[in-house]
Amino acid sequence: MKSVAIIGGGITGLTAAFYLQRRGAAVTLFEASSRTGGVIHSIRKDGFLAESGPNTILETSPKIAQLIHDAGLDPRKLTPDPHAEARFVVRDGRPIEMPGKPLGFFATKLFSIGAKLAVVREPFIKPRRDGVEESIGQFVVRRFNQEFLDHAIDALVAGIYAGNPNKLSLTHAFPKLKALEDNYGSMIKGQIFGARDRKKSGEVAKDRAPKFSFDEGLQVLPDTLAARLGGAVKLNCPVTKITHVGSRWRVTAAGAENEFDAVIFCGTAYGLAQLQLHATAPIDLSAFSEIRYPPVASVVLGFKRADIAHPCSGFGMLIPGIEKFNILGTIFSSALFPDRAPTGHLTLTSYVGGERQPELAALPPDKLVALVTGDLRKLLDVRGEPTFVHTAFWPRAIPQYNVGYGKYRDLLTGLESANSHLFFAGCYRDGVSLGDSIVSGANIAERVANSF
Ligand SMILES: Cc1cc2nc3c(=O)[nH]c(=O)nc-3n(C[C@H](O)[C@H](O)[C@H](O)COP(=O)(O)OP(=O)(O)OC[C@H]3O[C@@H](n4cnc5c(N)ncnc54)[C@H](O)[C@@H]3O)c2cc1C
Repeated sequence: MKSVAIIGGGITGLTAAFYLQRRGAAVTLFEASSRTGGVIHSIRKDGFLAESGPNTILETSPKIAQLIHDAGLDPRKLTPDPHAEARFVVRDGRPIEMPGKPLGFFATKLFSIGAKLAVVREPFIKPRRDGVEESIGQFVVRRFNQEFLDHAIDALVAGIYAGNPNKLSLTHAFPKLKALEDNYGSMIKGQIFGARDRKKSGEVAKDRAPKFSFDEGLQVLPDTLAARLGGAVKLNCPVTKITHVGSRWRVTAAGAENEFDAVIFCGTAYGLAQLQLHATAPIDLSAFSEIRYPPVASVVLGFKRADIAHPCSGFGMLIPGIEKFNILGTIFSSALFPDRAPTGHLTLTSYVGGERQPELAALPPDKLVALVTGDLRKLLDVRGEPTFVHTAFWPRAIPQYNVGYGKYRDLLTGLESANSHLFFAGCYRDGVSLGDSIVSGANIAERVANSF
């Protein structure tokens, strides 16, 4: 029986360990902290369910539904209320519903006539073929216009990466948008003519992918996988050193050393930078500390339903930086899934900080709650005080796939080819969403199993 060490007990490491164990490998999962799940953290308190980290999984690949099924979690899966599909973007201080249908785009107050004409013009703009890596901001201005960037894409980028659109790489952070231009010459043409290709591959675009969670929040998934792994999970075991010894790898964690046939690193980029890796000679991993993870605070507030004038029926609202609020975006959590708030109450989950205003994320909880409540009063006409408060601070939240990120991905590929049975997976390599991380974990398990 082959033995595999998996470093990191977030969703990537848990998925990889779960599938490798099912394929007969002897797995050991080392997690530095006292719990599994990484940034997934659901808390049930006073009848409210608060998600400190991610709120929903987007089902962008069939591998995601497969994991839920294989983990026996189909009966606990919750899909959002079909009436909660509306998404709002703030313009001129008010949340405006994003048009769901193409024709609605021409009627929306979200964009001026100039932005609408830019969409009509887009299929006629020549694709860029010079190989120069652009930011998503440069791409949007080139193919649409500045208003699209300032009033739509900036908000979207804050919602996914808590990032800066003028720094995030089109190639690495939005590869599917780049592929539309590369393959169809235009985003609009790619949306229309690419539908058949997407159907064939089973992949679903992020803006169309169904979302889901579980009855007791996303934590159900890591908890279930960890329970299946049982004694294979070693908590409070930060791995500090990996050494190649003969044809095996020696893993040093919490003062103990054990040898394995293969190692997968499923931690964070800044965790990787601190790891001592010794193959035939020591390998310097310090370059990975350059990858930026901006701080984010999540602020979950409960209110009496009667104290909010806005219906809050929908997924939530995104706020572009140009609108000058403190919140990056707010999810209408209790409108999405049942049992997130007691009867007569609402739960709103807001995010603060990111690349836009990193200094705000580290504010003490009472100041954060005051800032967020102040914004919600203006945006959603909230009157009363919160009846429930839960805040969480992520000093290093989401890796930024900024222009030049290919350097880090190439380093990882080079390390894998130079070192037999050493693998890398997770949100610092394969995409930052939960769905991407599940696919990353499932794929790496397959690669490791096939490598023996
Ligand atoms: C606030 C927030 C909101 C988000 N919202 C969403 C959302 O709604 N939907 C969505 O799809 N995605 C969302 N994401 C992104 C998504 O949650 C992550 O991409 C995904 O959970 C990453 O999983 P991971 O296993 O790759 O990494 P992580 O969850 O970061 O796990 C890595 C684990 O490795 C451990 N580790 C690191 N180094 C070592 C070491 N040397 N030894 C042992 N253990 C180590 C860490 O302790 C950690 O537990 C959000 C992220 C954040 C922070």
